[in-house]
Amino acid sequence: MTGEIIAVGTELLLGDILNTNAQYLSRQLAALGIGVYFQSVVGDNKDRLLNAFENAFKRADLVITTGGLGPTDDDLTKETGAEYFGLEMIEDKESMDNLRDYFKNNNMPETNLKQGYIPKGAKALKNNNGTAPGCIIEKDGKILVMLPGPPAETIPMFEESVIPILSKKQDKTFVSRILRLSGIGESAAAEAIRDIMKESENPTIAPYAKQDEMLFRITAGGNNKDEADKLINPVVKQIYKRLGQYIYGEGEDASLEKAVLNELEKRGLKIACAESCTGGELCARLVNCSGASNVLLEGVVSYSNESKISRLSVKEETLLKYGAVSAETAEEMAKGVSLNLKADIGISTTGVAGPLGGTEEKPVGLVYAAIYMNGKTNVYRYMIKGNRNKIRHRTVTNILNNLREMLIKDVSEK
Ligand code: AMP
Ligand code: MG
Repeated sequence: MTGEIIAVGTELLLGDILNTNAQYLSRQLAALGIGVYFQSVVGDNKDRLLNAFENAFKRADLVITTGGLGPTDDDLTKETGAEYFGLEMIEDKESMDNLRDYFKNNNMPETNLKQGYIPKGAKALKNNNGTAPGCIIEKDGKILVMLPGPPAETIPMFEESVIPILSKKQDKTFVSRILRLSGIGESAAAEAIRDIMKESENPTIAPYAKQDEMLFRITAGGNNKDEADKLINPVVKQIYKRLGQYIYGEGEDASLEKAVLNELEKRGLKIACAESCTGGELCARLVNCSGASNVLLEGVVSYSNESKISRLSVKEETLLKYGAVSAETAEEMAKGVSLNLKADIGISTTGVAGPLGGTEEKPVGLVYAAIYMNGKTNVYRYMIKGNRNKIRHRTVTNILNNLREMLIKDVSEK
């Protein structure tokens, strides 16, 4: 089955809101094994929406719309869907009852009445979070699913009413696994498993980049979950074999900071952080995860040279000779914070976050970070593109990932 998504709403075309429904639905359809090759956005205009339906149904078996199911005159998705299939609008008793129930303590505005009508022969989808029911028209081998616009209504309706219908039409059960990678870009990761991706049709392997990380979604269809799992597992194993060092976790809930905390806790290691350019963000991200208290001793936001000297025991000569943003300073900061706080591991960051302060020798985006452990310091140099926030965020991600890789390597070497 192939599907298309049409988001309806002039506000989307004006750029007033982001089309998050399309992202959500595309993801869901991929997980159901329904290929999506086109998405479109159309304003609240009947002729242009009819045109969008014509184009979409030339290419796809399934079209899902979101938006335009409200009570006002410019909400016309359902009526236009009916016209496209040559169906009249009829009252749907259950939808009308739900509507009256929704307004039982207030007078229902006259305009809301039209939300109790659906195209003849369509199936209404109950809205548990608002007034606009959705609906599904199935005709001549084509399926049109019309969902409300607000994501708080779209998503539950899709999960509760549409997934069961669509997965029944797919004669298979679909299972997805998501591998999350840090420290490698999308193209390098895809390149490393290009042959596996090319050969593998079931499961399919979809790479995609997110802020500071990349993901592989591996989806298989089988006659049951067991069968789908059996198809996925060997492929996942192959991916681990090639890219295992970069895979920090699986699934929607995994995060790099959680993975790092787990590795530290497993080994009973305590850390302390000395942050210059990241200004506490490293600690903040660790503290976001419950269980941080088992691992994190203290964080020092050490911004001035004076602080680096007095609190982290950085030598004055080092600062004078190499500057605050230097490998040497990063090294002494990490060692200093670790020894001063009696932590097993000391981590430091120092860099030029910009937009001011860059020089030819030390441009904006240049960051040094260091990890002190077992009497040894590893220093890292990053060149990060982007604005101040991005440079700081990326620095934290990079050093967390370097720490994760170091911990894993430390064990495999022993
Ligand atoms: P509508 O059902 O067209 O009246 O849309 C109602 C509201 O839902 C809009 O004002 C937006 O806040 C939200 N909305 C509509 N379409 C989308 C979309 N494609 N993605 C995210 N939010 C949307
Ligand atoms: Mg609208």
